[in-house]
Amino acid sequence: MPNRQRPAANMVVCPEHLFCLQCFRTALRAYDPDDGELFEVSCRLDAVASILCAQCSQRNSHCDNAPAGIIGDFFDFALVLRFCKEFWTAESDAGVARWDRNMLPLISLAVRNLAAALASILAGHRREHDLTQSRKKQGKARQAYRHFCAERRMALSPLPRPGRDGTPEDLIAYHSARVLRLEPGDVGFTSWAAAKHACFAALRSAIVQFYGDEEVAGVERLEEFDNYFPLVLDEI
Ligand SMILES: [Zn+2]
Ligand SMILES: [Zn+2]
Repeated sequence: MPNRQRPAANMVVCPEHLFCLQCFRTALRAYDPDDGELFEVSCRLDAVASILCAQCSQRNSHCDNAPAGIIGDFFDFALVLRFCKEFWTAESDAGVARWDRNMLPLISLAVRNLAAALASILAGHRREHDLTQSRKKQGKARQAYRHFCAERRMALSPLPRPGRDGTPEDLIAYHSARVLRLEPGDVGFTSWAAAKHACFAALRSAIVQFYGDEEVAGVERLEEFDNYFPLVLDEI
């Protein structure tokens, strides 16, 4: 069993998309639509040398990682989360909150629903590849899955690593191009694509509900939203 005694790091790191799935499940269970906070996975890497996150160490449990074949989908989810944080933090030049606080529960719910869809495609992907048992019992399925991922990686189009003058967008594109995602025809692809469409529509509709889509203020906000929403939605 994991050792609970471990030297603490000076800095706690919270992975944005490679979080432990135990912490992801905890966040889904703990979500309260009424608290008005953004859905968040609080996975804390707080030790100097340990393969366990804080929660798993505390529970004497093992971390659970996203399968390599869908890490890109977790990456995309994290981009939406990062984008939606702006609804909580953005301020006008005068230091006033840019978005109506009453809108935030709608944003939070849209993100939480996307998280639930991600949990569902994770389960479907594991079933499809026979990865539902503990690692030790996966045996040949694990080997076949490694092979499957290796083949898919060959089809990736990696981008050159951005230099010092690279923009944050360049870095996102670089990291995004390195990871595998569900492909059309895979179990869960269509429902995941639909969930991303639904999230986009729910966020947009929250803006329309509070700012309208005819007045200048609403039109400007919708334009900004459309321009900066971080995902390209799949045609389904
Ligand atoms: Zn964790
Ligand atoms: Zn963990």
